[in-house]
Amino acid sequence: MDCIFCKIANKEIPATIVYEDDYVLAFKDLNPVAPQHVLIIPKKHIASLNDLSQEDEVLMGKVILVASKLAKELGIDDAGYRIVSNCGKNGGQTVGHIHYHLLGGRELQWPPG
Ligand code: 5GP
Ligand code: ZN
Repeated sequence: MDCIFCKIANKEIPATIVYEDDYVLAFKDLNPVAPQHVLIIPKKHIASLNDLSQEDEVLMGKVILVASKLAKELGIDDAGYRIVSNCGKNGGQTVGHIHYHLLGGRELQWPPG
């Protein structure tokens, strides 16, 4: 499948991996928009939030728990951070494999542009 994040998960494309288990992978964003910018994905190819089904309930719970754990490891938990999943064109999604951005290390604006 021609999916850049599946290729990263399969180690066909290099990335700076910061967490990995059988189900979840986390790696540094190539073009960080915050001092800490990590992408967290399920290894299973799911295109976007629109494509989640009931069977993904536990899997996506694992993804969120990894985000929480990484925020602590990166030392951004006390100051605060944001987890974002962009969906579709209006959401600003550019890679068609569901992912959460973990953003921290500076004060983030709200609402987003
Ligand atoms: P989206 O725009 O879909 O919410 O987020 C996609 C993110 O993937 C972007 O922040 C972009 O910088 C990042 N990205 C795109 N291609 C690569 C890549 O090959 N490696 C890494 N590490 N990040 C990538
Ligand atoms: Zn994929």
